[in-house]
Order: sequence, then structure tokens, then C-alpha cells
Amino acid sequence: MVGGVFRWGLGAVLLASVVPFALALSPPRSALEEIRYTSVPDYTRVIITLSAQADYNHFRVAADRAADRPPRIVIDFSSTRIAPRLRAPIPVDDGLLKRIRTGQFSPTTARVVLDLEQIESYIAFPLYSPYRLIIDVKGKSKETPPRQQAKQSRASPAPQYQIMIDPGHGGRDPGAIGVGGLKEKTVVLAISKRLGKKLESRLPVKVFYTRETDVFVPLPERTAQANAMKADLFISIHANASENPRLQGVETYYLNNTNDRATERLARRENGLTPPGLTSLESGRAPPGSDLSFILSDLHHTASEPESIALAHTLQDSMMTQVAKRHSKVRNLGVKKGPFYVLVGAHMPCVLAEVSFLTHRVQGKLLRSSAYREAIAEGLFHGIARFLKEELPRIKKDSV
Ligand SMILES: [Zn+2]
Repeated sequence: MVGGVFRWGLGAVLLASVVPFALALSPPRSALEEIRYTSVPDYTRVIITLSAQADYNHFRVAADRAADRPPRIVIDFSSTRIAPRLRAPIPVDDGLLKRIRTGQFSPTTARVVLDLEQIESYIAFPLYSPYRLIIDVKGKSKETPPRQQAKQSRASPAPQYQIMIDPGHGGRDPGAIGVGGLKEKTVVLAISKRLGKKLESRLPVKVFYTRETDVFVPLPERTAQANAMKADLFISIHANASENPRLQGVETYYLNNTNDRATERLARRENGLTPPGLTSLESGRAPPGSDLSFILSDLHHTASEPESIALAHTLQDSMMTQVAKRHSKVRNLGVKKGPFYVLVGAHMPCVLAEVSFLTHRVQGKLLRSSAYREAIAEGLFHGIARFLKEELPRIKKDSV
């Protein structure tokens, strides 16, 4: 994260250790555990964490000037409790949100209220394991975007585009584990760094990473970082796994629901719904309510879908071109749609690349090699370069 360019106010307000709360009738099954928010000039993401899944309802309330009450977003969680001592307002004052208030609206309904300064739109969607509700509030931008504040220099012109590279997993989440114990988190970080160096040395772009070391970064915070930086592209890089050791190939995903069983299994693993590793892949065990069809059900729109599809095709074609130069047997599994949490809520074209199978005997070995990592990174580089040169200017022109 670049310091000083924008305000990254990670206001972590821990509402943990909810005291036991006795109720005579049908005690709530869930507890409000934590509320956090991230702020930038025209965007605030609120993350509400619950101890268990709960039904929720959200709505907007207009300002009541007579009563001196600001406009607000109200979220009600049914069968959820919140300790009375946790009802103190959380001040935000970031230009969009004034504060976040919580309270036990009824014996079984916990209410969260976002008091607003101003708003253009908002979306709300759940994430699972642990259960969270994300509320993205978008406001009218008043400040200059970060890139226009960059120092101008004749020798090195200001970057034209900003690209967020997201190396999957990290830290306590190793991702898939392949032949010889090779971890997905290690492979994808190495490929991501190769890609980032190529981009910055050969194109007028600034590259950001959701992680640059072996650390755990929650999925919603990855997308929030990309939104905060006003990135032009979000590229999430992963390596695949299957119980079928013969499965191999390269595939690229954009965000949407699907009925495809194999994609659902993959999305469960990438979304952290089953423990990473091979044994869990076919176990079919998933938390209650983790049917993936929910994922877009609460989104009013999927941002940048046509652009994301175009980006996915460009990257897939380009990866295959580079890989096929030396490895003609690597299968082209094509572009697919899938419900990947890490892509939900991104404001820019976003894709998830599965750059080969760690569990395939040959590809598992290839993924260890510098040459193969280089081919994948080079493929992603050329795809991004082509997209920025040919597709993005056209898309931006069309949208004016
Ligand atoms: Zn992954």
C-alpha cells in the first residue's frame, strides 16, 4: 500500500466477546461480532462479521430535515443478538459515512445503521466462512484521483493505468497443494511478481499487489484495495487442483453464477468454503447455506462484466500462445464464469486466472520451474498490454 496518496482508514472496531444473552423465546442463533470499515474519498466498504449465518434485510431511509436526521442505510439481521454495551456509535466522518450505529432492534433482530453524509449508490452482499455482510457505499467524488496527484516528470511520464495484481491465498491459507507438496500460495506469488516487473518496466503503468509476502489477506479486503486505488484492472492469480490427477490445462474466469459442478467445486475451494488441500475437494462438505448461487443474488448489477469477459479472453489467448511455444500438450480450458468472492464488488474489469494444475504430474513439476512461470507471466503481460492498448480505450470511449 502506498502511504500518503489516499486515506486508508482501517477503522477496526472490535465488538467481540459478546456476553451471553438470555431470551425466553427462540434465542438468536447468531451474534454480531465485529464491524470494520475502509475509507477512501468516494468509497467506503463496511464489513459486518457475524458468528453464524443470519437472514438480513437492508433499505435506505431519506433524510428527515425536520427531525435533523441524516439519510441512512439500515441493515436488520434476524435471529441475531448484540450486547447492550456494544451499542455505542462508531464515528467514521470520512465524507460519506458520519457514523455506524448498532442496536438490538427487537429481542431477535440486531440493527446496524449507517448514518450518511452523502451517497450515490450502495450494494450489499454476503461472504461466508466466516459469515460477513459487505456494504459498499459509493459517493460522489470530490477529490482528485490519486494518479493525477502523481508528480509529473519528463523523464518518466505519469503512469497511464493502475493494475492491481492479486496473488491468491497466503499466510495460513496455502491454497491448493500439489505434487511434491508445492503450495499454490508460493507459485502464484512468484508469478505475480514476475508479471508486475514486466508491466512496470515495459508499459506506462503502476502496479499494486494485494500481498507481496506470504501473508493472509481476507478476500473482501483484496477487492477493497483495488477499489481504493482506483485500479483499472484487477487480476487474481491462482493455480488449479483436482482429485483427478489427469486434469490439466489453463483457464480464466470472470464473475458470474454457474451451474457447472466442477466450477462450483473450484469456487468453493477458492472462496475458502472447504479447507484447502486435495482431500476436501470432493468431500461435498460445505457450511449450511453455502450454495454458491447466492453470490450475485443481492447485487443489483455486476460491474464491468463485458469488459471482464473481454479481458478474460485476451489473457487466456495470450497465456496459451506463450505456453504453447514450448509445451504444446497444455490444454486450453478456455474462459468460464464462476462465483468467486474475490471478484465481487470490484469496480473495474476483473478476472481470475487458473494458470495450470498443481495436481497434474507434469504441470505440477512445470509450475516449479522458472521457465514455465516465466511463460505464464509473459502470457499475462502480453494479454494485459493488448487489453490496455486495444480494448480499454475503446470501452472508455464508448462509455462517455
Ligand atoms: Zn487459489
